Amino acid sequence: MFTFEVIKQNSKGRVCLVKTPHGEFLTPSFYFCGTHGAIKCNDTMSMMEEKTQTILSNTFSLLPFSDTIQKQGGIHKFIGWNKPMLTDSGGYQVFSMGYGSVSQEIKGKRNRKSFVKKITEEGVMFRSPINGDDIFLSPEVSIQTQYKIGADFVVSFDECTPFNISGDYTKKSMERSHRWETRSLIEFEKINNPMQRLYGVVQGGVFPQLRKESCDFVNKNNFFGVAIGGCLGKDKLQMYDITSFTLNNLEKNNRPIHLLGIGDVDDIRKFVPLGIDTFDCVSPTRLARHGVAIIRKGNLKLKLNNACYVQDSLPLDSECGCFTCINHSRSYIHYLLKRKEPLAALLLTRHNVRQMNDLFTEIREDILNS
Ligand SMILES: [Zn+2]
Repeated sequence: MFTFEVIKQNSKGRVCLVKTPHGEFLTPSFYFCGTHGAIKCNDTMSMMEEKTQTILSNTFSLLPFSDTIQKQGGIHKFIGWNKPMLTDSGGYQVFSMGYGSVSQEIKGKRNRKSFVKKITEEGVMFRSPINGDDIFLSPEVSIQTQYKIGADFVVSFDECTPFNISGDYTKKSMERSHRWETRSLIEFEKINNPMQRLYGVVQGGVFPQLRKESCDFVNKNNFFGVAIGGCLGKDKLQMYDITSFTLNNLEKNNRPIHLLGIGDVDDIRKFVPLGIDTFDCVSPTRLARHGVAIIRKGNLKLKLNNACYVQDSLPLDSECGCFTCINHSRSYIHYLLKRKEPLAALLLTRHNVRQMNDLFTEIREDILNS
C-alpha cells in the first residue's frame, strides 16, 4: 500500500512519487499545518480545490481526543480529509513548551511558563495547557496515540534541543532520542498496522559529529522516511550548512526526507536542490490571518491592511488561479480587514495555500524539465 519511488533527480533536486492508502502525491511538496485537526481559516474542501496534496496534525494537541478520533473512524474520516496525512510525535512540544520560543531562546531565557514538569528516561511529564492535568508522553504513548489518530505517516518520539544548549547536553539528548526512537520502532512494529508507516528523526543540533552519529542511527534502522529535526543553527547560513551536511550523510535513495518546521520560500528554494522532499510550516496560513498575501509564488508579500489597497481593483496576484483571485479584488480584501470580517482571513488563507502549492508544482516541473 505504501511505496516510494524517485522519478527524476538532478542538480535542481528530485521528484518522487509517494503512494499511501489515502492516495499518492508528488514531491517536493508541502504539509500544511492542521495542528488541532483543522487548518486554521480553511475547510478541507477548499484545501483540495487549491490543489493541496498533504496536511499534518499535532499529536500533543490531539492526545486528549485520540480515543474520540479512533471511535469516529480515524483522523481522515473525522476531519473529512481523504488524502495523505502525517502526525508529528509530540516531541517538538518538549522543545517549545520546555524551552520557550525561538526568540526567548536567542535571548538565553527559559520559558517562565514552562509546561514541562519532568524529562526522564521513561518520557516527559507535561502540565496540560488546557486544564492543568498531568499528561505523560513516552515513545510508547506517542506511537499508541498516533495509531489511534490514524494518519498515514507517524513520527518517532524524540527530544528537540534549542541551539544555545551545550554540545554535552545535545549529545546526551540525542542519545536519549535514539533510545526513544528505538522504543518507538519496537512499539510501531508491535502494533503492526498496515495503514501506517514510521519516520525516524535526525537530531544532533549544530554539531556535525553528532549529526553524523544521528544519520548513522536512522540509516541502520527500518524507518520508511526520515525527518530532519532539532536546531539547525542561529542563522540561515548555519542552517544551510548543517542541513547540507546532514543530507550528505543520510541514506536517501529509498525513502522520503522531511525538513521539520521550515517553510520560508527562500529556504524551500535552497533546500530542494540539496534533496529535501517535504516541508511543513505554519507561516503561509499564519501570514494570511495577519492580513498578508504571498504573491508570485512567494517572491513578494502584500500587506493588505495598507491604505494603498483601498481602491486597488486588481486581484491579489494576476497570475493566481485560486478562488480568491478569480472572484475578489485587493480593495475588497482590504475593506474586509478594516471591517474585521473573518472572511478576510479565509480568502487570504485560500490564496496563500494555492501560492504554496503552485510554487511546488513549478519546482517539480523545473526538475522534470531540466
Ligand atoms: Zn490567489
